[in-house]
Amino acid sequence: RFSTAAVAEEPITPPVQISYTQHVINGKFVDAASGKTFPTYDPRTGEVIAHVAEGDAEDINRAVAAARKAFDEGPWPKMTAYERSRIMLRFADLVEKHSEELAALETWNNGKPFEQSFKSELPMLVRLFHYYAGWADKIHGLTVPADGNYHVQTLHEPIGVAGQIIPWNFPLLMFAWKVGPALACGNTIVLKTAEQTPLTALYVAKLFHEAGLPPGVLNVVSGYGPTAGAPLVSHMDVDKIAFTGSTDIGKIVLELAAKSNLKPVTLELGGKSPFIVCEDADIDRAVEEAHFALFFNQGQCCCAGSRTFVHERVYDEFLEKAKARAMRRTVGDPFKNGIEQGPQIDSEQFEKVLRYIRSGIESKATLECGGDRFGTRGYFVQPTVFSNVKDDMLIAQDEIFGPVQSILKFKDLDEVIQRANTTRYGLAAGVFTRSVQTANTLTRALRAGTVWVNCFDVFDAAIPFGGYKMSGIGREKGIYSLHNYLQVKAVVTPVKNPAW
Ligand code: NAD
Repeated sequence: RFSTAAVAEEPITPPVQISYTQHVINGKFVDAASGKTFPTYDPRTGEVIAHVAEGDAEDINRAVAAARKAFDEGPWPKMTAYERSRIMLRFADLVEKHSEELAALETWNNGKPFEQSFKSELPMLVRLFHYYAGWADKIHGLTVPADGNYHVQTLHEPIGVAGQIIPWNFPLLMFAWKVGPALACGNTIVLKTAEQTPLTALYVAKLFHEAGLPPGVLNVVSGYGPTAGAPLVSHMDVDKIAFTGSTDIGKIVLELAAKSNLKPVTLELGGKSPFIVCEDADIDRAVEEAHFALFFNQGQCCCAGSRTFVHERVYDEFLEKAKARAMRRTVGDPFKNGIEQGPQIDSEQFEKVLRYIRSGIESKATLECGGDRFGTRGYFVQPTVFSNVKDDMLIAQDEIFGPVQSILKFKDLDEVIQRANTTRYGLAAGVFTRSVQTANTLTRALRAGTVWVNCFDVFDAAIPFGGYKMSGIGREKGIYSLHNYLQVKAVVTPVKNPAW
């Protein structure tokens, strides 16, 4: 039985003030051109915590003009790479100094456990900026051995003004994945945050300017997708778009980019990742990792292991242990120590998750535990486990984006490969086995941008991340992310000009 005591209590007061709610344009905090604001919420209670400037096309125009000027006139792309790197390192130091407030703000606006924000995501944010600061002065072209009497070199130049649109599930990490490589390569930026979580990006934008970032290099506009995101994607003065969000909106973004100035687009979209437990797996470890793969961040991960395939010989044991683990999951106020799961982000996602749970029950999957909201207020959902899930059920096909584990049975490797790949997505996969041969067979056969073997959700600044199929276009993080923000210019010069 789940206890509702934790959320019946008064919510813990977050140890931070909300100081920044305006856009950041040209190095200054400014109101929306229209003067409008929109509310942002505490998902623990559904109560409004602040009113934030609501951006529209006019704010995007102002932000793009600032970014354009900072790119065309400098000083940013004209500074030495070492100077840019120093600013990024100073920013990372300031983030470290303000980690506690930032983690509290992230948890307050998003609902993720404070321990996760503070101990894992803030250090990762710092690590990502150290990583990209390290790249800034190591980006260079090649000399090319072309036929003929020519000296040929390539210059790797920044692409220009980058438009970046991020989701709400990891507001600060998504900021880092986008802003880090763009700045390392010498670009300027207009970033639109998700309407659910505008607060932390404004705070870190302030820190970036304190670290010495010139005005106009990083502009942050808050607002909704159709009114602020779409004008950014369509803008004729934006040279590149990087988007993370749902596959449906990713398609709109690609279309808007094509219809305007054909700017290149990278997309990080949804997933329905298989997590495959073979008969020779360490079952206890697989249970724990499968639990983590799905329930981490309230199930709101694009790469969540949301189809748990278990070999028939170990299915019963796995199921019993997976259910027991889900029943032990601690749900409650994310500011409380020891809480593993906070609320879903908002009422829309909360209702959507509950609809999928009802769909699982109606399609005759077996509800092992959970299945309802948790407590009586806010957007908490009970950790839910379904067994006897079949491939054609909606819960096995759609991205639920919530704490709902679907367990499916399989008989042999060929079958599970085929079933695991039968999805429109291809973001990630997990494989649990003691056999190197089985691991090798699966890692090569699975059509996914990441395959974790005997582990899951291992992220590092240097490891590329992105999707096959409808999970996206391009890779973020690692060396691959730099290609998204660079133009390659070939320069061809005769070694000896006949006229000389
Ligand atoms: P969403 O696509 O609705 O929103 C994402 C962002 O796009 C938000 O900033 C939103 O304001 C903006 N947006 C919405 N409509 C737009 C439009 N017409 N033009 C331009 N921008 C627009 O997704 P969501 O519900 O906020 O996030 C959840 C989804 O994101 C899930 O499907 C999840 O899988 C995906 N996601 C993917 C990754 C990844 O790395 N692949 C990471 C996080 C989330």
